[in-house]
Formats: sequence, structure tokens, C-alpha cells
Amino acid sequence: MLRLVRLLLEDRLHEGAITVDATVGSGYDTAFLAERVGATGRVFGFDVQREAIERTRERLAEFDLLDRADLHETGHQRMLEVLPHAHVGNVRACTFNLGYLPGSDKQVITRPETTLPALDAALRSLAVGGLVTVVAYTGHPGGAEEAAAVVEWAERLDRERAEVGRYRPLNSAGPAPELVVIEKQ
Ligand code: SAH
Repeated sequence: MLRLVRLLLEDRLHEGAITVDATVGSGYDTAFLAERVGATGRVFGFDVQREAIERTRERLAEFDLLDRADLHETGHQRMLEVLPHAHVGNVRACTFNLGYLPGSDKQVITRPETTLPALDAALRSLAVGGLVTVVAYTGHPGGAEEAAAVVEWAERLDRERAEVGRYRPLNSAGPAPELVVIEKQ
């Protein structure tokens, strides 16, 4: 599923593109986006945990990509306050990988009260033709409810404003994650 997300994102990226990683976690997607947007592009990264910001900074430094990223140790629901005004309406891709930081104590998780406002902010930030991808996990406490809330939020979006799709593994061994993809119209 994460490979599929990258294929979808990559399709919308170009040299100089403005992008957002709404949940940097260990920084894999941040590094992926930074690499694809080139030296003139930008990735705005969000995470509420210092540990995640540090892991991401290390990963970016390893690939010499630090100067393409703007990392913020704050909630993604504050996206519109953090993004420079000129970028609002120009974001090509914004990715959410929900749940908890792998290898952490699982106490800090994304929650619908902040995830849904962040999704609204992300959709406002997008350029026409830009994409928001959301991977929601259902195996941890609160995860299934969060995934359902994301799907419900997406189902209610005005068709004139966004085209929305959903992908779900059908023969998964455990609780299956959900992928929701939103394209701004
Ligand atoms: N479940 C994924 C990884 C998700 S990481 C996997 O298996 O790979 C999710 C990240 O979201 C964590 O690092 C967590 O700290 C962060 N997070 C939690 N609430 C947040 C918020 N309001 N804004 C931004 N990041 C948040």
C-alpha cells in the first residue's frame, strides 16, 4: 500500500513542487518527497513528537536533503498557520500516514479530532490537480474509528471540489489499513 501511495504522489510531483508530509514519523516519506521535488522544491513536515522530527532530520541529512525541508514540531491541524501564505492553493501533494510512531511507546497516536481538521486544511492548501493521500490503520485502539471517520469525511466532500477514492486490501492477514485519495478539482 505504501508503494502505491508513492506511485500516486509521484505522478503529481515535479521539480520545484511544494509538498506536505503531515505525519513525518521516521521520515521515509519526507525523504521521498524531498528527493522528488528537486533542489527548488519544498517539503513541509509535521509531527507532534520531537523523536519523529529528530529521526526525520537525520534521514534527510543522510541523503543531503535537509535544505529542501521545513520541519515543524506541531500538529498538522495547524497546517494553514504554518504554510507560507503564497503556498496555500499551490500544494501538489500532501500525505498522511496515521497511527503511532513505529518503535515508540504507542501512546501518541493521531486522532479524528485533529486528523479531520488537518484534512480540511490540506484540501484547502492543494492546487487544482493536487492529491491528498491518507493511510489509516485499524489494528490499534481507536484506529478503526479513525479510519471510519476519515472515510465518512471523504464521502461527504462536494464532488465539484474534490474527487475521492478508496483502496482496501481484501486478503490481508490482520486488520486491514485503508487508503483514501483525494484529488482537488
Ligand atoms: N503507522 C505508520 C506510521 C505512522 S507515524 C506506520 O506503521 O508506518 C504517525 C505519526 O503521527 C507519529 O510520529 C505521531 O507522532 C504523529 N502525530 C500524532 N498526532 C499528530 C498530529 N496532530 N499532527 C502531526 N503528527 C501527529
